[in-house]
This record gives sequence, structure tokens and C-alpha cells, in this order.
Amino acid sequence: MSTATTPESSSSRVPGVRWDPVFDELGFPEDPENLYTQTVATMLESAETVALPHRVKIILAQPKNEFMVHFPVRMDDGHHRLFKGYRVQHNNALGPYKGGLRFHPNIHLDDVKSLALMMTIKTSLVRLPLGGGKGGVKCDPRALSEGELQRVARRFTTAILNDIGPDYDIPAPDVGTNAQVMAWIADTYQMSTNNRTSTEAMRVVTGKPVEIGGSLGRNKATGQGVVDTLVEMLPALDMPMTDLRVSVQGWGNVGSWAGRILEKKGAKVVSVMDHTGVLHNDHGFDCEALTEYCMEHGGIAGFEKHASASASGKNPGLGGEVVSLEEFYTNPVDIFIPAALEQMVKTREAEMIQCKVVIEGANGPVTPDADEILERRGIPVIPDILANAGGVTVSHFEWVQNKTNHMWTEEFVDAELNRYMVMAARRTLLARQKFGVPLRKAAYCSALAHIGDVYRVRGIFP
Ligand code: GLU
Repeated sequence: MSTATTPESSSSRVPGVRWDPVFDELGFPEDPENLYTQTVATMLESAETVALPHRVKIILAQPKNEFMVHFPVRMDDGHHRLFKGYRVQHNNALGPYKGGLRFHPNIHLDDVKSLALMMTIKTSLVRLPLGGGKGGVKCDPRALSEGELQRVARRFTTAILNDIGPDYDIPAPDVGTNAQVMAWIADTYQMSTNNRTSTEAMRVVTGKPVEIGGSLGRNKATGQGVVDTLVEMLPALDMPMTDLRVSVQGWGNVGSWAGRILEKKGAKVVSVMDHTGVLHNDHGFDCEALTEYCMEHGGIAGFEKHASASASGKNPGLGGEVVSLEEFYTNPVDIFIPAALEQMVKTREAEMIQCKVVIEGANGPVTPDADEILERRGIPVIPDILANAGGVTVSHFEWVQNKTNHMWTEEFVDAELNRYMVMAARRTLLARQKFGVPLRKAAYCSALAHIGDVYRVRGIFP
């Protein structure tokens, strides 16, 4: 372990954040609630452990580029609304900037910066030849018509057109966006850039529909990666993979796929919450039926009545019951999967959760304070940068398929994804052993050591 100087401890300066001298050097605000400060603190702590040189620490503590754009969009009723969009390019030492686009009403620059930094770390941990970026539009996609959503996506693409590119910065789906939004972005990009062939231009985004070069297996990839990681990690955490009872926070793309795949492996998803409600089913939900219901109704609320009335599900009449948030957290399970948004598990939730392992499907769902509580309680947290890396991994496969004009079978995609996830999990376990640190820090250590090696070889220009 490194014996480099110990930064001022959190208690003496900013409660909840380990205050590194780099924060002062770069003029960070002393705000412990700020997701960006929290993410950089996590990164700097591991940077210290792997003795990352100061020059690399300061490079990684700020993104290379931050774009904020404003653009008008005509709404269905004829009036125009001004939207705010972001693209943050955190680092491209390993390859083109890579990361999702989020459409959400509560998106802020610091969140996007954090998520972009996490992408740099994630791609490095998985050893993909990609850097890190993130972006999005401040809007509520649920409140937009399809036409409005399409105009927002296309106009946003136009606003960042010169800053993205198939070999420079490659967006993908994230919260509030999907394959259809990627198709509109790819089409707008191709129509607006005249020196590219269709296939080349389409490489500007991943997570596209299969019809225009998307990869088989991409839609489920993040959830699949969560399960692949869990299968690899559980034996190392002295837990059998049998008779698992699972609780899932957030039933969107990641949560619903992780739940469905786990159910197929014999696990029972017994508790689910999303932005519309909280449900419990001691016998385990029919995850396929729950997902279908959610797609139709926009959330899980009401599934308990619907499932009782329908006989189409695998467990007719077993839609579960509505429970309180407190019951959701305190109901004992083996695995808790936060798969909604960042900072959803704070100190209060960390004290309440009754589980043996937490595996992060979302990005940054557990705050550093909550992390400490879970550690004290002996509950290991399999971190986001490992657990949810399946999405960007299959994005990379899509990009490679587009580059070579070749389409892989779903079996091949799944097998390759598993190989990458297993290797990333083993790297994390090795770092845990080498540095004697919890899993999140171990994953950061492995990723940062790799970035450090790349900077050592490349040097810093000029
Ligand atoms: N938005 C996903 C993530 O946070 C995927 C990004 C990508 O495929 O580029 O990892």
C-alpha cells in the first residue's frame, strides 16, 4: 500500500468527504452533498493507494471538456420551449470518449461530470479501449409526446454535432433514453455530416436498434452484466448462488433485466420499488409479467391488482402487495440491487437495508457515508463501475461490429460479455487482496493503475 502523504481527514474539514489537497489546488467547493465532490474523493482515495502521480490525479479530477447548450424546440401546441443540454468529455487517454445520454428533469452539470468520470474508470476497469463521457438533456421524457421527444433529440444532436463523432465521442442510452432516441441521433448526425458513409456515421452512437447496426444483446447487457458479476463474485464473498431472495430498487432497463435474468437462474425477486410504488411478494414476482405491465403503465403501481386479475403470468394471482418504503428496506433479502438513480441509498437507507450483498446496477446509488455504514455492518457493496459495466462493454462490441461490417450472434455477444465481466471481477478481487481494501476501492485501484500505466507510457504533451 502507498505511504504517500495522508490528506486531511474528512472529520476535520468537510464531513463525509475525505478532503484531498487536490480539492484545494483545483478550487473545489466544500460541499459534501455534491455528487462530483463525492466521486472525485472516491477516485483520489484510490489514486493515493496506487500511488498515482500528482499530474494524473489533477488531470482526472476535472473533465477535459464540458459543453452546455441551449436550444429551442417547437412543442405540439405550437409554442417553443428552450431546453438545456450537456456533454461532458472526461478523459480520452484510453480511447474515444464514451458514455450515455440522460434525459431527466433533475440533471445538473455536476451530476453529468460525476457520471462522465465514472465512465472513464469503468472502461478502464474493463480494459476497453475507450475513454469516459456523459451527457443529457434537462427534460422529462415521460411528459413529452413522441414527436416532441424526437425534435428534442435531433435538435440536441445538432447543438453538439461538432463535438461528437464515431472515433471521437460516442454517446449511448442512459436513464430516459433508449434505442429509438439513438436512432434519431444517428440519423441526424448522418444527415448533417456530408463526408461520411451511412455505416460510418451510424457508429457515432451505440445502443442503436438492431435494424441500423445495433448489437444483439445490447438492450439487456447492463442487467446481464450485473448477473454475470454476481455469479463471479458470490463465491468470493462466501455466498452460494442458490435460493437467492432479491430486492430491486428501480424497475427500468437495468433493474428489470437483472431481475428477469436472476429469476431464470432460480432466484426470487421479492421486493421492488420504483417512482410509482413499492411492492412485495414473498413467493417472488413473475418478472416478465411485471416488466410487461411496467412498459404499458409506466411503472409498477397497480401491478398487484392487475396480476391478481390476469392469468397470463407464470404466477397468476401473485402480484404481491403494496408495502411501505420502510418495509421495502427492512425486509430481509440476500441481494439488494439499487438500479434507479444516483444517491438513492443514503445513511438512513444504509442503516435500514437487511441484505447480505449490495450490487449497484445504477451509477453512484450509494453515497460515501452510506458506503461506510454498509461496510461497518459487514455488507459488501459490489460497485457500479464493475457491476453495471455490461452496457458499455456491449456498446464496445457494437462499435467493433459496425467498424468491421459484421454482426455477431447473441450467443457470441453473451459469451464475450461474460468473459469481460469475469475478468473485471477477478481484477477487482485481486486488487482487494493486494491493497486490503473494500470492493469499490479495489475496483478504482485496478482501473486507476491501468490509466496510470497509459499516462506513463504516453507522457504528457508537449
Ligand atoms: N449509460 C451506460 C453506462 O452508464 C452505457 C454507456 C455506453 O454504453 O456508452 O454505463
